[in-house]
Amino acid sequence: MVQAGYVRQVMAGVYDYLPLGLMVLNKISNIVREEMNNIGGQEVLMPVLHPASLWKQTGGWDKIDVLFKMKSRIGKDYALAQSNEETVTPLAKEWIHTVKDLPLAIYHINWKFRDELRSKSGILRGREFLMKDLYSWHKNQQDFEIFYQKAKQAYLKIFKRMGLKAKATEASGGGFTEKLSYEFEVLTDAGEARILYCDSCDYCVNVDDIKTYQEGDLCPRCKKDKLQPAKAAEVGNVFDLGQKYTKAFDFYVVNEQGEKIYPIMGCYGLGTTRLMGVIVEKCNDEKGIIWPEQIAPFQVYLINIPGSGVDGKAKKIYDELMEKGIEVFWDDRKDVSVGEKFSDADLIGLPWRVIVSSKTGDKLEVKKRTEEKAELMDLESFLKLLQ
Ligand code: ATP
Ligand code: MG
Repeated sequence: MVQAGYVRQVMAGVYDYLPLGLMVLNKISNIVREEMNNIGGQEVLMPVLHPASLWKQTGGWDKIDVLFKMKSRIGKDYALAQSNEETVTPLAKEWIHTVKDLPLAIYHINWKFRDELRSKSGILRGREFLMKDLYSWHKNQQDFEIFYQKAKQAYLKIFKRMGLKAKATEASGGGFTEKLSYEFEVLTDAGEARILYCDSCDYCVNVDDIKTYQEGDLCPRCKKDKLQPAKAAEVGNVFDLGQKYTKAFDFYVVNEQGEKIYPIMGCYGLGTTRLMGVIVEKCNDEKGIIWPEQIAPFQVYLINIPGSGVDGKAKKIYDELMEKGIEVFWDDRKDVSVGEKFSDADLIGLPWRVIVSSKTGDKLEVKKRTEEKAELMDLESFLKLLQ
């Protein structure tokens, strides 16, 4: 990604997202956004700079080791968002007063900061990274469970839309709660999670959490295959937070009987920058990246081979494709050899490469990134292929 100009490292765990990289991120975010809106999530934008008081109120100030803490010049304490329970709960409390106001689901896609000890896996583990975090509140456990399942399905759909197959584990809730949670894992050697998985079904467990199973054990779900070890990247998770945060912020609602109840809260994280890295880990060959169409920054890599009339022809093709709403990246560099353009096309990894030259007459030379052979066709046929 660095070589192809998607990102630039500023320091370990901190990156610039360059024009192509930002386009990919925006595509990922838009898929996430659509699916979160589909389950009733409302998008907001919360701050990353938090007063220490909120984190002291939940105990996170002393307990969370990755929390970045800062002092202002007049000695006031602040924290940088490592997650947003501490701001979203007081926010919901301000608007929600009776059970009739529930359920509620709020999310944002914003920077998170974590003092990770090791940040050696590129954008897979940032000290500053983007996360989509959704939070929900419910009048009772049953209502929460229904939404929780919906969120889980939405997550599986998101990963599928990005061309990824994610396995849903059941894991303990870690520092948050003792309740169950789901982790979504994508098998890749670049990941840091160690899992045992079943090839015949979706079953998978995190090795750190579930000591009951060992490599070679029969899959407890489908009982067809043996559990195999693998490395995986956690691309998302959902937690049942119970009443931990609603109690910490004294966020209660009044029910039909006029009694005070503390809503049940859930949180649903998804690492958008990590996802971008995971997709690259899964979709590449020795020449470079192979973006799935849905999140490629552009669909077409257009190259014009110097020759008489070619520039004009390429311009016409570019305009016509753009007019049809096709995203075209036109490599019109004058000082670069054709061979270099070809290797950059492979490295950058757009789904289609289109060449215009004086030899091809009215036709285009079209090649899919995943295929070796190019084909000659007219613009009409290419447009049909794209559809
Ligand atoms: P991990 O075990 O990888 O540290 P986590 O359990 O700390 O993850 P959460 O706090 O649940 O993760 O955050 C939600 C999601 O945010 C994760 O599923 C992951 O996709 C992403 N994420 C977490 N930490 C990072 C990081 N340092 N860099 C990039 N993405 C991250
Ligand atoms: Mg972590």
